Amino acid sequence: MSEHEVHLLADADIRALAYIAGVDSRRVFPSKEAIDGLAVFDARMPDRESPPLRTVALLDEFGSPATVASNGPNYFGFVVGSALPVAAAAERLMLAWDQGAAMALTSPAGAAIEATAARWVVDALGLPSDSAVGFGTSATSCSLTCLSAARRALLKRAGWDLEAHGLTGAPRVRVVVSQTAHVAIHKGLRILGFGRDDVITVPVDDNGRMDPACVPVVDALTIVCLQAGEVNTGEFDDFAAIIPPAQANGAWVHVDGAFGLWARSTVGARHLTQGVEAADSWVTDGHKWLNTPYDSAMAICRRREDLAGAMTSDAAYAPGSDHSQKNLTLDFSRRPRGIAVWAALHSLGRAGLDEMFSRNIAQAAHAARRLREAGFSVLNRVVLNQVLVRCDTDETTRSVVSAAQASGIVWFGATVWQGRPAFRLSFSSWRTTLSDVDALCDLLARLHRQEPA
Ligand SMILES: *Cc1c(COP(=O)(O)O)cnc(C)c1O
Repeated sequence: MSEHEVHLLADADIRALAYIAGVDSRRVFPSKEAIDGLAVFDARMPDRESPPLRTVALLDEFGSPATVASNGPNYFGFVVGSALPVAAAAERLMLAWDQGAAMALTSPAGAAIEATAARWVVDALGLPSDSAVGFGTSATSCSLTCLSAARRALLKRAGWDLEAHGLTGAPRVRVVVSQTAHVAIHKGLRILGFGRDDVITVPVDDNGRMDPACVPVVDALTIVCLQAGEVNTGEFDDFAAIIPPAQANGAWVHVDGAFGLWARSTVGARHLTQGVEAADSWVTDGHKWLNTPYDSAMAICRRREDLAGAMTSDAAYAPGSDHSQKNLTLDFSRRPRGIAVWAALHSLGRAGLDEMFSRNIAQAAHAARRLREAGFSVLNRVVLNQVLVRCDTDETTRSVVSAAQASGIVWFGATVWQGRPAFRLSFSSWRTTLSDVDALCDLLARLHRQEPA
């Protein structure tokens, strides 16, 4: 290894450490000047080589100031989470390994550690212990893989060989989704060739949960998509009421649990997910509530052969098995992204997981209480880590959101709930403390009184 390489990597590490050291106090959304500074990247590709140190310096000098501090404690937007130091450190080592973790042949370490990560994930989530886990890039891509496994399996049971005959002339598969289903589900369905006419949308109650009375009677050619953690309210569909009758008729039940499925690892919230373990497939993210770095998600399938049947990519030169990640995910070449999941679970253990999620749940309840006292309307029951809020008038809601976003002190996003503007606060970061939550509530109270941030 050359001295140049050592120097370059050490330089990047020093810059990364400086960024992390300041992440608690930096602007949460970058200033206009910092964003204007990104113009430096709008350049022609160089004809000649540049010194690598200069390349990294450019990233840090102009890129770092224009980042969103979602890795800090004061970001409450979407359901983002930050990165646990142990998971980020594991990824640093992974970068040095640079493994193409398609199968044991290309990375024995990747295959073994991801196999354990898979076992621990289904254990932590209380799902059937022999479920298959594909470590994919996002809940979006993992939803796509689960839905494609679902359709293939239903067609197979109906006597249709998808590999041989394709979709033309195949029995029609329908999909039942909630009115508040995430756009990732709709995207997956669209890519797989489902049209709007193939989708039955079930209305939701005031908490964003599918109304069980409105779920249609389904047949053995139906995929039912339920949610563990609705993005606005953090609520759960009534799994115990919906899953058994659907499965009794032969339907496939898929659960989108991008963040909410982790309620399974929390003593105080587990009851919300009762019955979810009976589903056929589940998706969850690492990069949201589990606080692993991007991109990290899991496609989990009760019957390994269903997921592997849809995702298999064996070739004479690249033999694998139903346990090879290339046969459980969309990708062939891939980094062993399950290692960061393994690192998080190894370091936290069951107690640490429970503690991390419980802390965020308690923060959401605390914020809801304080915001009600300050005169806001809290629109959801706040059972998990999401708080849905609005002011008396739509103008005030909008002005509070834009003043908070412009402040650089915190960041959260706007939404529309039941036809009117609202905003969402998500408590998903391991870094957020109760005093950060109090500071957020103090700021919102000032804005509500139309004082400066
Ligand atoms: C975020 C989210 C998704 C999409 O997840 P990505 O990892 O961003 O693709 C899907 N469903 C729900 C409920 C989500 O919260």
